[in-house]
Amino acid sequence: MALTQELQAAFNDQITLELESAHQYLALSAWLEREGLPGMAHWMRLQSGEESEHAMKFYRFLADRGATVELGAIAKPKSEFDSVVDVFRASLAAEQRVTAAIHNIYSMATDARDFASFPLLDWFVDEQVEEESTVQQIIDDLERTQGNGHALLMLDRELGARQEDDES
Ligand code: MG
Repeated sequence: MALTQELQAAFNDQITLELESAHQYLALSAWLEREGLPGMAHWMRLQSGEESEHAMKFYRFLADRGATVELGAIAKPKSEFDSVVDVFRASLAAEQRVTAAIHNIYSMATDARDFASFPLLDWFVDEQVEEESTVQQIIDDLERTQGNGHALLMLDRELGARQEDDES
């Protein structure tokens, strides 16, 4: 069963949104590098790679469904921030935007009775719960450091230990 035009457009927008997230995460990584927080910069760089993989999951899905992949323009990412916690709040806001977009596609797919897209969308619904929870936890930890240099250093070390295929 072919995708409806409306769903095809929504999936294409999602590819662009995921690539835009990858781009934004790289900008967040660069800001953290400049601040001398290599662990957090590393975490953001891995996050950027994960967003590119998300884009490719949607790309693959469109190709497998015989639909047309059409990439959109990527906006210039925000690159100036007031504080480390501000950077992670930007990350949470980006994830919430992605979650809303995925829920919107889910709703469209339900209306169109496009059952073939449910497994992919279910995976993303779960993934977004995980992403938002992970970033929220980091924000909570950062707020708890209240400018304590030692606590910030510990958190930087912890986030720097993230591996390529870690869930968080
Ligand atoms: Mg994503």
